[in-house]
Formats: sequence, C-alpha cells, structure tokens
Amino acid sequence: MTAQRIGVLGGTFDPIHFGHLSAAAEVADRLLLDTVILVPAGEPWHRRWAPVAGREERFEMTCLGASVDPRFVPSRVDIDRQGPTFTIDTLTDLRQARKESGGPATDGDAWFFITGADALADFMSWRRPLEILALAHLVGVTRPGHPLKAPPLPDGLCTLVEVPGIDVSSTKVRDRIRDGAPVTEMIPLSVANYIVERDLYARKSP
Ligand code: ATP
Ligand code: MG
Repeated sequence: MTAQRIGVLGGTFDPIHFGHLSAAAEVADRLLLDTVILVPAGEPWHRRWAPVAGREERFEMTCLGASVDPRFVPSRVDIDRQGPTFTIDTLTDLRQARKESGGPATDGDAWFFITGADALADFMSWRRPLEILALAHLVGVTRPGHPLKAPPLPDGLCTLVEVPGIDVSSTKVRDRIRDGAPVTEMIPLSVANYIVERDLYARKSP
C-alpha cells in the first residue's frame, strides 16, 4: 500500500446534499486528494436540536451520496461511537484504522480536514483545536452567506479554497420536503428516492 492524500468531511448530513458533495470534489481536485472520507456525526455536539433522521438513515444517505464520485468513501467511525461527536476523535479513529489496514507506508499519508466557512468561523471553540491541527491540515471552503476567513492560527496550518458556492443547506432541503417543494437541484436523485421511501422530513399530520 502506498501513502495517500486523504480528505475528511464531517457533518450531520441530515441529509447529505450537493453543497457537501461539490465542496468535497472541488477540494479533491485542487489539492490532488486520492480520497475524501465522508463521516456522518453520531451526536453533533454543537447543535441545539438533535438530528431529524436517525444515525443509520443518515449513514445510508451518506453512502448514496458518496456513490456520485469514485474518490468518496463513507465512514461509520462517528455513528458507531457513543456520546457527542468531536473532530479530534474522528481524526484519531480514522488515522488508527488506516494504520491498522495499511501498515508503515501510511506514515507518509497527508490528511486534510475540510470544513465550510460557517463551521470554520467557530474552529477555535472546537474541542482541542491545536491537537486537531497535528492530525490534519485544515481546509476551509466557500459557503454562500459566510465570509471565508482563516482562524487565528500560525501560517501554514489552514488553507482556504474558493469553490463555486452552492447555496444549499440540509435545513433548506428538509424545509422544502416538508413543504412539498422540489429538491432535485439540491440532492442526488438516489438520496431523494431514499427520503421518499423512508418518509423522512415529511410534514406530520396535525
Ligand atoms: P444544517 O442546515 O442541518 O446545519 P448543513 O447544510 O449546514 O446542515 P452540515 O452537515 O451541518 O450541513 O455541514 C457539514 C459540513 O459541510 C460543514 O463543514 C459545513 O460548513 C459544510 N457545508 C454544508 N453545506 C455547505 C455548502 N453549501 N457549501 C460548502 N460547505 C458546506
Ligand atoms: Mg450546518
């Protein structure tokens, strides 16, 4: 096995959408990544509300979303861990699993943690941010409506990547589904079909 350039994109993915997928693909192109691991959170620590869909449903939608690009790989590390999801644990577990399966060559891997401009703005309040930076290079990407600005860190620890911003959020997708509005421009058809089959995000009868 040879060393790889590995991106990681974590999120609630409730559901995964083209904002996530296009940001991951753009960063993979620009930074020459071999793979981008898509990691749905178990219990997102920073959200005031619990995810709407269950963790297995969010994982299955992540698998469907990951199939749009051969470089994308879904991971269960966060949904299989009890308690709130912290990026420091995500990266530790992913690196450990890769070392166990890949052996010494993986010492040459380069890791990149990808985050949208909204989440990047809070980076210094994440659990153990400096230890995160020892495990992965931080990559901030454009998110419409949020200025793309690096956190106050020494040079060389964070790269900003301007991508063609897609103005979509999972919240907007859920709202449109509840309202019966189309979401074809926002999520892959396979994810849309899954949502219909499982009756996720639908308006509850009064
Ligand atoms: P919600 O509306 O439920 O908060 P969301 O669309 O913000 O969902 P998350 O799962 O919270 O999606 O986001 C996971 C990661 O993807 C974060 O780093 C976030 O900044 C990034 N991200 C989400 N949507 C976009 C987008 N449209 N463009 C770029 N990055 C995005
Ligand atoms: Mg969000």
